[in-house]
Amino acid sequence: MSTAEKHQFQAEIEQVLDIVIHSLYTDKEIFVRELVSNAADACEKLRFLQTSGQAVFEPDRALGIAIATDEKAGTITITDTGVGMTRDELVENLGTVAHSGSRAFLKKLAEDKKTDAKLIGQFGVGFYAAFMVASKVTVLTRSCQPDQPCWSWTSEGAGGYTIEPAEGLPRGTKIVLELTEAQKDFAKDFTIERILKRYSNFVPFPIELNGKATNTTPAIWTRPKNEIKEEEYQEFYRYISHDTENSLYRLHFAADAPLVIQTVLYVPSKNIELLGMMRMESDVHLYCRKVLIDAKPKGLLPEWLRFLKGVVDSEDLPLNISRETMQDSSLVQKLNQVITGRFLKFLEEQSEKDPASYEQFYAQFGRYLKEGVVNDYNHHDALGKLLRFESSTLDAGKKTSLAEYIKRMTGDQKEVYYLLAPSREAALSSPAFEVFRSKNYEVLLLDDPWDEFVMDHLREFDGKSLKAAEKAELSAETPKEGGLDEEKAKALAEWMKAQLNDRVAAVKPSQRLVDSPAILGDKDKFMTASMRRLMKAMKNSTDAKEEGAQYELEINPRHNLIVRLNQLRESDPALASQVAEQLLDNAKFAAGLIENPNVMLKRMNELLERVVGPKS
Ligand code: ADP
Ligand code: MG
Repeated sequence: MSTAEKHQFQAEIEQVLDIVIHSLYTDKEIFVRELVSNAADACEKLRFLQTSGQAVFEPDRALGIAIATDEKAGTITITDTGVGMTRDELVENLGTVAHSGSRAFLKKLAEDKKTDAKLIGQFGVGFYAAFMVASKVTVLTRSCQPDQPCWSWTSEGAGGYTIEPAEGLPRGTKIVLELTEAQKDFAKDFTIERILKRYSNFVPFPIELNGKATNTTPAIWTRPKNEIKEEEYQEFYRYISHDTENSLYRLHFAADAPLVIQTVLYVPSKNIELLGMMRMESDVHLYCRKVLIDAKPKGLLPEWLRFLKGVVDSEDLPLNISRETMQDSSLVQKLNQVITGRFLKFLEEQSEKDPASYEQFYAQFGRYLKEGVVNDYNHHDALGKLLRFESSTLDAGKKTSLAEYIKRMTGDQKEVYYLLAPSREAALSSPAFEVFRSKNYEVLLLDDPWDEFVMDHLREFDGKSLKAAEKAELSAETPKEGGLDEEKAKALAEWMKAQLNDRVAAVKPSQRLVDSPAILGDKDKFMTASMRRLMKAMKNSTDAKEEGAQYELEINPRHNLIVRLNQLRESDPALASQVAEQLLDNAKFAAGLIENPNVMLKRMNELLERVVGPKS
């Protein structure tokens, strides 16, 4: 009776296999990095179990990785003495994708027919890189849990895998790849040696290749900075991040107070969250005296720094800290404060030293800084310094910091102003911008509704409050004579309110307009038009009366349309009333708050008919 059990892969794994097998990706050598990295993870896990006092099978077997190549047979074998796997773990780890974000991303990748095979290591499916080069993979394993049997797992890729009992294995895992004819080169000793040099120098366990020790580099974060070459930093980065490109930024720092910390942090050159809906998980590993405590420690860094890769080593951590309570540990919170503060300071220095590369950083990762402003009050000052926006006084595409903006402020300007609009042109031609043009005040131009929330949360910078242009209480620099006087303007406003009735809460003469006859304001100067739009979109129908109670129509007493309207309401009240309605609709239109244009268009056509004259 055969005891071999046949299993199917989870659908997403089939997709991954399809990607890697048919990938035209040329750097197939990354399979070595992925398998060695899994072997190293398995050793790290075992070391952690032992240091936290758990019983393991063969406690005296040294941790390490051995690689053997056999050119004749066309095989490569990677053996480790790590945690190994039980039968259930084999099914779980080598047959399914655990992380739902990874699953979603992989599905998208497969649907797009994008064969980005080099990304798979970053999505928790590195093991399957083996199938880029092998026609058959065998995994022989014995779990470190005492009294567990040994298992053999085999697969030829698509079509599933087989699990059957094995005999007499030592603790750990042995993976045998039977290379395809085209990839036989990987059975050569020197090929593997070259690949190991490239990707696996920093594996913190001894690696032997055909009986010869290869890696000897000690943990990079414990070495003095001036002895480390940039290439070594980048090698280490590629090793821990599974990235094939170099990092954009790196920060290596050590501190003795308030905590003893040694840290190397990296910012990747690309934001992989921008590729799909995948949400990154922080990849900053937490060590204590070179022993890995947790590869994905919760709470070590704020969520909005989840794009960072690297290592934090602190002697102050107790080795037996449980991963469940870690987030609440005051020590981890302290680490979080210190590292976050230091990293933000680093970004500030970089932005001053090399604005061009900071711009590149900001394009990829700026949104995380904004997320930080909205979700985290602890670092507002530091984050505020790092934000960049387009501005009315700079060329299109150029961005300014808040500090530079404040330096440019002229004598009587007290606040920092910003205006959200779908485009630069829309902002500069909007009625809300008129007062700023007349006063020569600079306005930050935002193009993402999210940015308004960011400003709202930041509130102030360097003692200056940040204010939506639409809410600014300013008067335009225009000649005072020539328009309606105060009394007439007030009377007209009252009359208009009576005509418009429930459609607005009030009509008021305004000093902030220059070229436009009217502008839609918010009754309590509480929301901007874009916030209103968002609110409306969320509440799918708003009662017209309820909506009107929030609006205020501001009219420009110097505008010819308003001056003439004041005469018209005596001579032709019916027509004047139509003009008042149309003025309100135009203002709502400018604010993007017209939902159903039919009533307005009908009225507009009637008015046009008056202009062209009656039927002859
Ligand atoms: P990741 O390493 O990102 O989790 P992989 O596809 O590389 O994704 O590996 C999947 C899982 O298989 C690992 O998380 C681990 O649990 C298990 N695994 C792979 N190789 C080994 C090994 N050599 N020893 C023990 N477990 C392993
Ligand atoms: Mg892996």
